[in-house]
Amino acid sequence: MTPDSRIYAYSAVLMGSPILLKLFEHNESLASGVFRLIKLQESTFTVNRPHSDIMAINHAAGRDPVTVSEPVFELIRRAKAISCLPDSSFNFTIGPLVKRWKIGFSGHSIPAAQDLQTLLSLTNPEDVILDEHTRSVFLQQAGMEIDLGAIAKGYIADVVRDYLRDQQVENALINLGGNVQTLGAGAEGAWAIGLKKPFASPDELIGVINVTGKSVVTSGIYERYFELDGHRYHHILDPKTGYPLDNELLSVTIISEDSIDGDIWTTLLYGMGVEKSLEYLKQIPHIEAVFVTHDGQIILSSQRQFAFTPLDDSYRITT
Ligand code: ADP
Ligand code: MG
Ligand code: MG
Repeated sequence: MTPDSRIYAYSAVLMGSPILLKLFEHNESLASGVFRLIKLQESTFTVNRPHSDIMAINHAAGRDPVTVSEPVFELIRRAKAISCLPDSSFNFTIGPLVKRWKIGFSGHSIPAAQDLQTLLSLTNPEDVILDEHTRSVFLQQAGMEIDLGAIAKGYIADVVRDYLRDQQVENALINLGGNVQTLGAGAEGAWAIGLKKPFASPDELIGVINVTGKSVVTSGIYERYFELDGHRYHHILDPKTGYPLDNELLSVTIISEDSIDGDIWTTLLYGMGVEKSLEYLKQIPHIEAVFVTHDGQIILSSQRQFAFTPLDDSYRITT
């Protein structure tokens, strides 16, 4: 991944993440257009500020249905459908647990087991009542909180891609802190997206994923976590137990057309583990995955939409 003089990179910090935009022209106004768009989306979906469309729904929990815009309603409908799948490890009503743990934020702590049970009773996705006619969202129980943290970045990456396309941009990359979406093939025949070495400095890579016009989303337990008494607590919670999901995985990367699928599937497969995921993905040809495990394996699903170059000998590659 040598720097290419034809590429212009623009960066910002938004949604609590470093954002990187790569273009093939020097175009400040296009870049500011992209960052403005991301800011607008962030202000709609955030639950880390007192006010947003999602916070309006959360504030009215147990009281009133709240009417939202079409795209917000659609995203919530999608999030509910995935959350209600049998055995889904994706649950968009996980908000009360996320707020209690505060993983990745100051003030994090391990909740008492009893508190977790109480909070878990507020995380039933079936308790989110959607009315298509009024486009309203109602959280049936007081104390419920929607958290779209596991899907919003993917959705926003697609919004940015569509915006760039509308501006006649044919070749670009947007990275929303782990959620990469691309247009075209970059400078060298394909965009190169680094797979980070877990728990190492961000520029240490264990491999490179090459794609053209695809999304590459990685969710790793080394991104946001805290340590206490030799135990690591990371930010993807098990909706069944209320504790961070615990299995053989360090990260899941999804290669797909749309970044929203990547974001959904990283969280879903994270809970499934490698074996079940690989079996499951056989029926879903447009979703492909790269898993990194605690025992130093890199496991690749089919490679129709991407190519993988390993960069670290200490990892075993399995296909
Ligand atoms: P990343 O932050 O690496 O993109 P995800 O896409 O899985 O990882 O999103 C994690 C975020 O989603 C958490 O920070 C939290 O806000 C929320 N979250 C945590 N656990 C779950 C879960 N089981 N289902 C849905 N959302 C979750
Ligand atoms: Mg994500
Ligand atoms: Mg996700």
